Formats: sequence, structure tokens, C-alpha cells
Amino acid sequence: GREQLICSGCGVKIQTENKGELGYAPPSSLSREVIICQRCYRLKHYNEVQDVSLTDDDFLKILTELGKKEALIVKIVDIFDFEGSWLPGLHRFAGKNPVLLVGNKADLLPKSVKSSKVIQWMKKAAKDYGLKPADVHLMSAKTGDSIMEVANLIEEHRDGRDVYVVGSTNTGKSSFINRLLKEFGAEEDMLITTSNIPGTTLDMIDVPLDDGSFLYDTPGIINHHQIAHLLDKNELKVISPKKEVKPKVFQLNEAQTLFFGGLGRVDFKSGEPQSFIVYMSNDLTIHRTKTEKAAELYEQHLGDMLSPPFEKNKESFPELVKKEWKVEPGKYDLIFSGLGWVTISGSGSVIRTFAPKGVNVNIRPSIF
Ligand code: GDP
Repeated sequence: GREQLICSGCGVKIQTENKGELGYAPPSSLSREVIICQRCYRLKHYNEVQDVSLTDDDFLKILTELGKKEALIVKIVDIFDFEGSWLPGLHRFAGKNPVLLVGNKADLLPKSVKSSKVIQWMKKAAKDYGLKPADVHLMSAKTGDSIMEVANLIEEHRDGRDVYVVGSTNTGKSSFINRLLKEFGAEEDMLITTSNIPGTTLDMIDVPLDDGSFLYDTPGIINHHQIAHLLDKNELKVISPKKEVKPKVFQLNEAQTLFFGGLGRVDFKSGEPQSFIVYMSNDLTIHRTKTEKAAELYEQHLGDMLSPPFEKNKESFPELVKKEWKVEPGKYDLIFSGLGWVTISGSGSVIRTFAPKGVNVNIRPSIF
């Protein structure tokens, strides 16, 4: 077959079909010597912050360090913010080192979710980013659920090597490390130290393992795609689910719209009447309106009826970017990174989604 082109910036597979999608590069650019995707191109030439934080020096230095080691890499992602907590480029630096991919915050998933489907989706999403994990597992660092399984997987896959735990900020990496320490460290006189990452002012936490190896907790990396970075602490509280997410069901006709606070929007452009089931923080207000009224409503009520963002922050809030989806018949989840998702199950429909500039919307076969 044809050789798969890879972006030399972030490592995603290059595609030339869908402009709004990951890895897009204009066909004309493929003749260049160095091929990079449009996102990386924009980052490089226009410094647009919605793009991956590959320019962040510290991020690169951490990755460079990882690339020099023989180690197991444990990568923590927030399953409610998979895109936002992804670390692009990691797989290239990981080299031959195995990566154990751990999805955190599983306690927030409704009970009706099938773990196997979540894992299947994580594998597929990782593959789209160019990473083939040695294993994928779900856990809750908060409740402690599946922590032992993850610890056992680490032991199995590290095979005597050191372990590096990586993750972007807010994924629950600290909670996870603290759990591990509680499970394994408390009774022993474990000497936890820190060590510096060469070329940075950053310290890692070094946890000794029983065979003389170490588990290193690397600093949380900021991924600029995270919706969390657009919000202040109190706004973030509203969108972060605290417990199992309760589905909210809306029966919609064509030309109707739902707003998720002022942070996202879905338009039912065309299709048979169907239910839109929203899985987001129970504290986030959902507003239903006619699509023809939606723009005006947003204009007039961002910050009050449509909030977060709160009134005082709405001026600096980025515009919502539109994306159109032709959804096949069947059950699909439209994922709003960092917010949650909306499950639709029509007989084929056209949907428009809106999310803050830089924050991704994606689709997956439903995890129910
Ligand atoms: P870090 O920035 O990656 O180190 O993340 P923290 O451990 O500080 O956690 C970030 C936020 O996510 C905090 O508000 C935690 O309470 C929350 N959190 C962490 N792990 C879990 C989890 O398994 N479930 C839930 N529901 N929340 C979690």
C-alpha cells in the first residue's frame, strides 16, 4: 500500500480530505520536503494558541528525557477530556518504550456505560494520534477503583524498568500518585525524593520501587486545547462533574438547538425527530431554542442565561467555532472535550456543533 505520511510536528497521520479534522494538510503541501499538518503549521507561523503546546520548552524537555530512557511510560488521560488531556508527540519520543494508557475519572461515567466500549474508543483514538499502547485501562483515582489493577499492569509491563508517569494538568495524575503511595508506601519507610529534569527548573517526584527502580512523577503538562484553560476556578467547578453524570434527555426536531451554558452548542440541522441525550456536569445549565434564534440568544445572553463563562469573563472568551457532521444511522456520541458528550441515535442526520476556538469536538460510536 501507500506509505502513510506523518506530520513532522506532532506525529499525527496526515490526511488531505477533511479540513477541520486532525492531521489535515492541503494536498499542495505534500510536495514540500518537510510535511506538517495545518495545526502545526499555524502554530509555527502564527503562534495560534489553540494548537498543541509543542513549543512549550518544558514539554519538549520532558519528552526528550523520556526518549533517552529505557522505561515504561504510564500516560494518564481524563476520559471526559481525552483530546484536551492528550500529549501530542509523546509516542515519537517514547520510541520503543511501551506506553500504558490509563483513562481516569471512570467514577463519573454513568453505570450504563460499557467499559469495554470506552477502552475500544480509547484504543482507536490513541491510534489516530499515532500511539499504540501496550495496554489500556480505566480507573478512578478519586474512589480508588481499579488502582490495584493499574498497579499490577505497571508491574507486569515495566519488566524491571523505571516508570515515568505523564499527563497533562487536571487529569488526576497527582491523585493517582497519592493513591499509589497510600497503597504501597505508607507502611514502609519509603524515601520519596525529587530530581531535576535537565535543562529545566522542574522537579520530578521519585518513588523507589522494590527492585531499585524508580517511579517518576513528571510535572503536569499544559495542553492548550483544554477547555479548562479558558475558564477561571469557579467556572471550572460548574463544568467538572463531581459524581456520576446524569443523562438529560431532549427530544428535538430539525432546526432546534441546545446550548451547554455558553461553552458549546449543538444544532439539529436535519433529520427525523430524535432524542439528544446530554452527558455533562449536572451543574451545567442546558438551554433549548430554535436554531434561527440561537445566534441572537448567544449575543444577548452570554454570561447570564448562557453561562459559564460568567459575565465578567465573557469579553475575553473565544468565539465558538462551527463544525458540521453528517451522522450515519446508528448510535453516536458527539464529544465536547472537557464538557462531556451528547448521544444521538437517529436514522441519519446533519448536526452542527459549536465549541470554543481551540477546543475539539469529535464523534465516536456510542459507548452504551
Ligand atoms: P493533576 O493536575 O493531573 O495532578 O490532577 P489532580 O490530581 O490535581 O486532579 C485534578 C482534579 O480532578 C481535581 O479536582 C480532582 O479532585 C479531580 N479528580 C482526580 N481524579 C479523579 C477521579 O478519578 N474522579 C473524579 N471524579 N475526579 C478526579
